[in-house]
Amino acid sequence: MSEHSIKRASNRDAQMSSNAAATTTSNRANSLPGDSPSPSTPRKWRAGVLGATGLVGQRLVKLLADHPWFELAEVAASERSSGKSYAEAARWHLDAPIPEAARELVVKSLDPSLDCDFVFSALDSSVAGSAEEDFARAGYPVVSNSRNHRMDPDVPLLIPEVNAAHLEAIPVQQKLRGYNSGFIVTNPNCSTAGLVLVLKPLADAFGLEKIFVVTLQAVSGAGYPGVASMDIHGNVVPFISGEEEKMETEPQKLLGRWDGVRFVDAGLGLSAHCNRVPVLEGHLECVSISLKKIASIDEVSEALRRFEVSPELASLPTALRYPIQVLDDENRPQPRRDVNAGNGMAAVVGRIRECPLLDIKLTLLSHNLVRGAAGAALLNAELLAARGFFKERSSAEGELMAEPLTQ
Ligand code: NAP
Repeated sequence: MSEHSIKRASNRDAQMSSNAAATTTSNRANSLPGDSPSPSTPRKWRAGVLGATGLVGQRLVKLLADHPWFELAEVAASERSSGKSYAEAARWHLDAPIPEAARELVVKSLDPSLDCDFVFSALDSSVAGSAEEDFARAGYPVVSNSRNHRMDPDVPLLIPEVNAAHLEAIPVQQKLRGYNSGFIVTNPNCSTAGLVLVLKPLADAFGLEKIFVVTLQAVSGAGYPGVASMDIHGNVVPFISGEEEKMETEPQKLLGRWDGVRFVDAGLGLSAHCNRVPVLEGHLECVSISLKKIASIDEVSEALRRFEVSPELASLPTALRYPIQVLDDENRPQPRRDVNAGNGMAAVVGRIRECPLLDIKLTLLSHNLVRGAAGAALLNAELLAARGFFKERSSAEGELMAEPLTQ
């Protein structure tokens, strides 16, 4: 058995035993991979994907195909797609074929009456704001990729390795908004995700003062069809609408703290230049950082290499124990070579060196569709499931509360 499959098996076992009280009462118990079917085997959490036909939605559909805790139960998208089978509606972009379990699912509209326990949202931002609120109000946990609610004062903007404590805002959100069991949790913008993951161990070890970042962002970051080929082929576009604003605000919330009532910003000096480059997947970022405490290049490199997640996070199926990979080659990271590091969940760092203006500078790469979107949402959902934020929804059986995972 590979290390990966051992980890998945033990995660699954932990989840199964902790949620047994909630799930053994279900008469729709499914068998899990490798287990013999048994009425007492708990079923997986049933996920719906809003915006399932888009680039991020397709990644989610793929990642859910063999997930140990979740199964794809519903797909929803625009009126253009609803009523069709998923295979008909999705213009499939991944090399691997459409998962069998998804092919014949009928694409639904955004009516909040899906037969699932929680939803991922990979909706276009033109509709995500109100649709996510509708689902949360109807009792669904909403795990969103979209920008609409990221900076809401009661919505956690979450990277589990960075600010898992921000989940404490959920009961406050539910109370303020009158949501019963539903809520909204978001993941950051795709270029912010990699940046903040790399900033976190530096903030912990040395403190942060100022960050200056220049991005080289892949075309898939704009969804499909994204930037017109005549604009991007053999070219660089030095403007991505709204991106610099997101990169200058989201890290403040992510690296700040929840004080029990509100999110308190990290108070960083941040400046971002964002560029679209003719790369398919993977956002590269050139970052200069000033630290509160003087640190050598070796100390910075060690802090990044040794950044290890907590045992709670390490037990989540999508988590990496060491989510930052440091490369020593002077010409790495490169999108084509390094984008899939850690199944697309790693932030890959190279070229750590002194900065004549600030203290240090480095180059980082992260997969915009995985670490920056679908994988990020999946990891957020795993943490929510492990902490007991999901409950079984069933029109026939009523709603059964899940027990929190004991740590
Ligand atoms: P995309 O490829 O354009 O997909 C958009 C999805 O939204 C499609 O499923 C589409 O359905 C659906 N949609 C559009 N208009 C709709 C409407 N009026 N009603 C219902 N559904 C509608 O975009 P994407 O790249 O997957 O991005 C999805 C979300 O994630 C966006 O909010 C984006 O900002 C965010 N995000 C993207 C990335 C990235 O790297 N691409 C990273 C982080 C976050 P149809 O197919 O039926 O039109």
